[in-house]
Amino acid sequence: MQVQFGSCRIELAQGDITAEEVDAIVNAANSALAGGGGVDGAIHRAGGPQIMEETDRDYPDGCSVGNAVATGAGKLSATYVFHAVGPIWSGGDSGEPDLLTSAYRSCLELATERECRSIAFPAISTGVYGYPMDLAAEHSLATVRDFLIDRQKPALVRFVLFGAGAYGAYARVLESMTS
Ligand code: ADP
Repeated sequence: MQVQFGSCRIELAQGDITAEEVDAIVNAANSALAGGGGVDGAIHRAGGPQIMEETDRDYPDGCSVGNAVATGAGKLSATYVFHAVGPIWSGGDSGEPDLLTSAYRSCLELATERECRSIAFPAISTGVYGYPMDLAAEHSLATVRDFLIDRQKPALVRFVLFGAGAYGAYARVLESMTS
């Protein structure tokens, strides 16, 4: 599924984000940038040790929640990996939506600074961090849509969803944005 916002496009895909051929792949990292399971483990496995060497060297203090930092992409076909730290869901009254929005915006800012034309996001915080998928879809898609309308870049934002449930949740929200 894809929806155009001016000269920019949001696309939804189902699959493994490490196979994406885009300028930047976003990792759902933890604040220590220490590696982990889920999408983080998959990116480090597919990209090789170079990515972790760069985070250790350039960001020894890690990355705060709601922010993102950039490294090269090692063996991945992308040019960059943006390591975004989403919030841990703890009921929704602890600023989680603002922190999730901020994590996505940080990646979009990194993409525009680096002149990336395409970027792929996973559903940040919806795995181990427990953010409800429906809410994550609403909050992340609205953030990206607003950024694209405001800034008219990057040209392509793909959400690469792991499984039919995640894809369905995102498709319902994106569909509602077209009407
Ligand atoms: P977080 O700690 O931010 O919740 P996770 O990696 O546990 O991060 O999960 C984030 C989302 O990424 C989940 O929806 C999970 O199903 C999904 N995911 C896991 N592996 C991949 C992958 N290889 N490609 C795309 N999405 C993935």
